[in-house]
Amino acid sequence: MRYSALQILKEALTGHHGWRPLWRDPDPQPAYDYVIVGGGGHGLATAYYLAKTFHKARIAVLEKGWLGSGNIGRNTTIIRSNYLLPGNEPFYEFSMKLWEGLEQEFNFNAMVSQRGIVNLFHTDGQRDAYRRRGNAMLLAGADAELLDREAVRAMIPFLNFDNARFPIKGGLLQRRAGTARHDGVAWGYARGADLLGVDLIQNCEVTGFRIEEGRVRGVETSRGFIGAGKIGIAVAGSTGRVMERAGMRLPIESHVLQAFVTEGLKPAIPGVITFGAGHFYVSQSDKGGLVFGGDIDGYNSYAQRGNLPVIEDVAEGGMALMPMIGRSRLLRTWGGIMDMSMDGSPIIDRTPVDGLYLNAGWCYGGFKATPASGYAFAHLLATDTPHETARAYRLDRFERGYVIDEKGAGAQPNLH
Ligand SMILES: Cc1cc2nc3c(=O)[nH]c(=O)nc-3n(C[C@H](O)[C@H](O)[C@H](O)COP(=O)(O)OP(=O)(O)OC[C@H]3O[C@@H](n4cnc5c(N)ncnc54)[C@H](O)[C@@H]3O)c2cc1C
Repeated sequence: MRYSALQILKEALTGHHGWRPLWRDPDPQPAYDYVIVGGGGHGLATAYYLAKTFHKARIAVLEKGWLGSGNIGRNTTIIRSNYLLPGNEPFYEFSMKLWEGLEQEFNFNAMVSQRGIVNLFHTDGQRDAYRRRGNAMLLAGADAELLDREAVRAMIPFLNFDNARFPIKGGLLQRRAGTARHDGVAWGYARGADLLGVDLIQNCEVTGFRIEEGRVRGVETSRGFIGAGKIGIAVAGSTGRVMERAGMRLPIESHVLQAFVTEGLKPAIPGVITFGAGHFYVSQSDKGGLVFGGDIDGYNSYAQRGNLPVIEDVAEGGMALMPMIGRSRLLRTWGGIMDMSMDGSPIIDRTPVDGLYLNAGWCYGGFKATPASGYAFAHLLATDTPHETARAYRLDRFERGYVIDEKGAGAQPNLH
């Protein structure tokens, strides 16, 4: 069924009996040409583009829980392409372009809303750094505007401009950035992939790999052995654990990142705002809740829940930036497991095992990357060559010294 306004009208007039589940619930086949491990945004997008763009068949996505149960359904929904480094910016701008046509492409309402992002700066040195980043964005074909203090005030008057420690001096604006409904993105890709014949297999945990003479033959799962020509791993925070089963230790640490949402308020926040003197970012959902987040918890963990000190730290950031947030009531907090790489940038590459491919290291930023990550990973799986925007995301860059350290923070996952 193709979704359209006409279809909604037709269903409304005929008792809504025509709607069907978004995807089938197939049993696993004995073998596939392509097995994608992980039914998050990246795994589902990879399967979708493998089938749609690269015309591959016999594809399965294996998900240990339910589709969208991981970070894709837990993030704060921000999409943007405001990066500095040449290894990153063209990739994220490619992703932004895919976001702009995504809902038409997979015929699903993912609530992509380009309401803009403002990165605030608080010192002259930070202004210079943001100006440089804006110029890098423009050179890569993205949009960027440097706002002075009065322009920011006209746009977001309720901020604390005269905070004694962190006065707001201006901001870097990307108008095409914004938010998208995170689980809608997973559902849209899942439905699109299913319509193209991809088997989406839930409650199917990959517990091991069958590797013979350096080549992968298939995966051991909680639902039995499944043979595979090629296997793509896209398990985000579980990357370390899953790749350990293939005998690999990776330059990745898993940490919890928390998110927060308040009760519904009248529209107040026009787009996404990030605090430049601490780690705090906020937007407002369509239901009216303020959605915000900050730093990862300061220790390694595979738990999908966080700790109180980070809640306090995030609340302090919010109060320094916009004291009015202290009047709102927090409804919910939750956590997701982040695959933090050593330089803050992702990996989309082959592995030393023939036929085994890796998509990982997304840190805080994997949601905005979902379309480009899926596309580039599908490109790699289908053609054995990297997509032009993802050439730098090699696994061996850490030993060769070609790190993509966007923040210049060094090998400190908690600082990226
Ligand atoms: C609180 C929070 C806020 C965030 N905010 C943003 C943001 O605003 N903007 C942004 O760009 N990014 C954000 N991110 C990051 C982003 O959500 C992630 O980088 C991205 O979703 C990771 O890719 P994924 O969607 O494929 O991961 P996931 O959805 O986690 O998918 C991985 C899947 O693999 C499955 N899996 C694991 N092990 C196995 C196994 N052995 N067998 C089978 N399946 C397995 C898991 O169950 C999971 O469903 C945020 C993350 C969190 C947690």
